[in-house]
Amino acid sequence: PERVVVVGAGLAAVRTAEELRRAGYEGELVLVGDETHLPYDRPPLSKEVLRGDRDDTTLRPSEFFEENRIELKLGAAARSVDTAARTLTLTDGTELGYDELVVATGLRPRRIPGLPDLAGVHVLRSLEDSRALREAIVPGARALVVGAGFIGCEVAASLRSREVEVVLVEPQPTPLASVLGAEVGALVTRLHTAEGVDVRAGVGLSEIRGDERVTSAVLGDGSEIEIDLVVLGIGSIPATEWLEGSGVEVENGVVCDGTGRTSTPHVWAVGDVASWQVPAGGRRRIEHWTNAGEQASVLARTIMGVEAGAAAQVPYFWSDQYDIKIQGLGAVTADDTVHVVRDDGRKFLAYYERDGRLVGAVGGGLPALVMKSRAKIAAGAPIDELLAAAV
Ligand code: FAD
Repeated sequence: PERVVVVGAGLAAVRTAEELRRAGYEGELVLVGDETHLPYDRPPLSKEVLRGDRDDTTLRPSEFFEENRIELKLGAAARSVDTAARTLTLTDGTELGYDELVVATGLRPRRIPGLPDLAGVHVLRSLEDSRALREAIVPGARALVVGAGFIGCEVAASLRSREVEVVLVEPQPTPLASVLGAEVGALVTRLHTAEGVDVRAGVGLSEIRGDERVTSAVLGDGSEIEIDLVVLGIGSIPATEWLEGSGVEVENGVVCDGTGRTSTPHVWAVGDVASWQVPAGGRRRIEHWTNAGEQASVLARTIMGVEAGAAAQVPYFWSDQYDIKIQGLGAVTADDTVHVVRDDGRKFLAYYERDGRLVGAVGGGLPALVMKSRAKIAAGAPIDELLAAAV
């Protein structure tokens, strides 16, 4: 190709550009992003940035883009794409032709329909979101965090470090239950409870009240709590609205094969927005940092016609909560059978089993033990042997 246009200027877009150059691509490379910042990293937004320990999370300095001849077109969103003419139209009216188009538009935070538009209600995806929430933190403030997924749990932890009182509500039986299952979820509940978070699991948010500013919330069990802040961490939706009518197949993300190729010739997708085929069968959208780089490498080499191999056999994620780094290896799901093999009251290690085989491991504060299980997960080691052996 002579001109590759990447839509989105986040992690997956930057990694795709880097990997294309690494794979020998010499042509034009354009990154289109609707945000005005240089591409930046998101994991610190719920951690260091929120705690006030850091403010800049830029991925690469501007010289990097110049040196690698990567043109950044920032502050304009892709509005539509004509896949027959191979033209992309931006919200500022610009039309860009492409030989290959890479969709890397990530996710947008889900909101609750019908929720009154009150001051003090926050979501967390962008740098502005994180800064706005940080500004709203005053010691002694009372926050309701709605949704105990990774972001909700990390926000709860960061708010505690700033002396905010936190109620964490989650309709599932435990925090993180829908991703890691209720056994590990119970260990995560214990962690938050020990740090003073009021964890209310098995109950949802019914109503937010206030006049201009939020003053209270009513939960599904009828209890009313007085609050100054609400953070919605109820999941995200793929940013694919601009692909409507383009013919590119979208079903909870952009539908891709195992190399990032979509249903439409010369259109690819990567990162949080992409639903790639997985070796085990079916497709999966993975909302984790490491995945974006791994997919970018496969996709770039495929575009360049270089042998790419499959995406990583053993995916990895992490989440920092208090002093505990929760780490996961393998494509674990809430449906797997979970064996907690280490638990010292705060740190833990759990094996995830499917059909008698090890498919993943999740640890809290035990990085060496998690990493040691990588080869066993890749090999699908029989769980009985692992449980018999001392950890
Ligand atoms: P994004 O980073 O979302 O980038 C997509 C970009 O495209 C955005 O800038 C968006 O504004 C832009 N865009 C959208 N639509 C358009 C359009 N139409 N035109 C132009 N541009 C558009 N993962 C971990 O593994 N560990 C962690 O601890 C962790 N912490 C996280 C904390 C937070 C607060 C968040 C939000 C995410 C965290 N993640 C973590 C997930 C990780 O950050 C994502 O997996 C990663 O950012 C995905 O990169 P991406 O490029 O696919 O999407």
